[in-house]
Amino acid sequence: MAALPSFRLDGRVAIVTGANTGIGQAIAVALGAAGARVALVGRSGMDETEARLDAIGAAHLAIRADLSTPEPAAQIVEEVLGWAGQLDILVNNAGIIRRADALEFTEEDWDAVVDTNLKVAFFLAQAAGRHMVPRKAGKIINIASLLSFQGGVRVASYTASKSGLAGLTKLLACEWAPHGINVNAIAPGYFVTNNTEALRNDADRHSAILARIPAGQWGDPADLGGAAVFLASDAARYIHGITLPVDGGWLAR
Ligand code: NAP
Repeated sequence: MAALPSFRLDGRVAIVTGANTGIGQAIAVALGAAGARVALVGRSGMDETEARLDAIGAAHLAIRADLSTPEPAAQIVEEVLGWAGQLDILVNNAGIIRRADALEFTEEDWDAVVDTNLKVAFFLAQAAGRHMVPRKAGKIINIASLLSFQGGVRVASYTASKSGLAGLTKLLACEWAPHGINVNAIAPGYFVTNNTEALRNDADRHSAILARIPAGQWGDPADLGGAAVFLASDAARYIHGITLPVDGGWLAR
């Protein structure tokens, strides 16, 4: 019997956006633990993530960039290529959410969320793709949402951005699969991070959400590491264009 393809990422170089905290931090640490060198990109200090990567002996580089516009995308990829000589994995994780009734939703809240969650993700993928396509290798993982599948309430621009991100994942998969690049997404369920702080502080919403999760608990960001490592590895070489829910069974309900 043929050996299983490897889940290890030794020798690979990854970019994770929004890696200072939450889901991005957990994914950066998981990729590092699997052997990758990790470039941590975001607008805040990466000290906590860097300390966690140091603790497991994983190489890292921190790049300060404001991802509210696509302007820094090409420069980020250049900086990583200068540091490591290659780029194998891009995780588009940085994202924001704004809450308001649809009747009151402002253009500012629309643009801020769609630009960061969707537009910047595309132009980072484009910058990475310009390096990956000629090399005929690469993995792009977009962090989507349950609202890539469902409507939600009071989060018009977030739902639009995350539904768009699932579509974009399929488009890029179709264009780049012939070049040996895997483009996929992960849809986290409800995870304990800054993003969900408002929901967790609302006692009624918190218990209503909890009651609907078959696994009976909110997600710990570390629970996303396995899916990210898998999609970044040779084990996922024939997987293209999926949005993989990691949601404690929420969508199964
Ligand atoms: P989070 O703690 O709020 O993390 C968001 C990350 O994005 C932070 O690192 C943040 O940096 C970064 N970011 C936002 N705007 C940025 C900008 N303009 N420039 C650079 N970095 C920026 O929440 P999270 O839950 O870990 O979110 C990570 C991703 O998971 C997001 O795309 C989110 O939509 C998605 N997600 C989360 C859940 C959940 O339950 N938590 C569920 C589904 C999807 P700062 O810390 O500097 O703001």
